[in-house]
Amino acid sequence: MTATKLPELEALERIIELGAGWLHARVVCEVSVPGQGNYPVYVITLGNPAREAPAVGYFGGVHGLERIGAEVVIAYLHSLVMRLQWDSTLHRQLENLRLVFMPIVNPGGMALGTRANPGGVDLMRNAPVQATEAVPFLVGGQRFSAGLPWYRGPKDQSMEAENQAVCEVVNAELLSRDFSLSVDCHSGFGALDRLWFPYAHKRAPMVHLAEMQALKEIFVQSHSYHRYLIEPQSLQYLAHGDLWDYLHLQSCAQPGRIFLPLTLEMGSWLWVKKNPRQLFSRHGIFNPLIEHRQQRVLRQHQLLLDFLSRAACSHNLWLPTPATRAHHHAQALQDWY
Ligand SMILES: [Zn+2]
Repeated sequence: MTATKLPELEALERIIELGAGWLHARVVCEVSVPGQGNYPVYVITLGNPAREAPAVGYFGGVHGLERIGAEVVIAYLHSLVMRLQWDSTLHRQLENLRLVFMPIVNPGGMALGTRANPGGVDLMRNAPVQATEAVPFLVGGQRFSAGLPWYRGPKDQSMEAENQAVCEVVNAELLSRDFSLSVDCHSGFGALDRLWFPYAHKRAPMVHLAEMQALKEIFVQSHSYHRYLIEPQSLQYLAHGDLWDYLHLQSCAQPGRIFLPLTLEMGSWLWVKKNPRQLFSRHGIFNPLIEHRQQRVLRQHQLLLDFLSRAACSHNLWLPTPATRAHHHAQALQDWY
């Protein structure tokens, strides 16, 4: 059966073709949607595959309704592919850097227009991590029914195929290196653009809080006009089953390695406020519907995605040293805890 076409997936496949000389693409898993067909989940890699090279992972489309997240990641990959045709500084950067893209993690949910995957499971509540404090009712993850939002999936079952694919890619491409970053692009929470870091399952600080603070510091220093609210997710709400908490905890099992996962939450309530008609469309609550607004949203976040690749490449120049680490940690506690 031919799957109903997804514009984002078609765009991604065109970019893979365009960049064939520079990037490697493979299908990590296939997701079938009853009555609509099968959709591939792609991973695209470029740059230096050597383990010594730092890496950045770009993820999107984890929640099927939040198409703008996938589009932001696809737009960045597209700009890299176009720049590879003329930009020698980018080629030099990629000699020392690995880039990994999974722009459409949940194509089944995207085809169905749902947050969850076709099995009704919320992929961001599905990892085997249990919150250590009370979580908000339903939103924090629930096991009552796949018919309600934020469903974690059945107890004692392995993770959903899409999440297993993300874990496979993160383990092979990011956690195998001494230094890696990731950003997972979402939309829908609040009116501000937020950058969240772990944890979601507890309020205590993450192991690499000092490193996260140093990353924030170089971002803010070099982008003084930025509009992101940077904070641990636990400041907003706690949740069970957060995939990035799970992967970060896994990375900590390898001493000396640093993996800093970020979640970009694009604040869509602002788009709704500026165009109240969006409230009446389920898709519209999560995505800018007017074209000029969508272009602005796509443009705004390219800077952040590009910053992460530069930060990973130059991590030796800004990561805290044994002498400065305590200062970064204290500053972070003062800012956030
Ligand atoms: Zn989301």
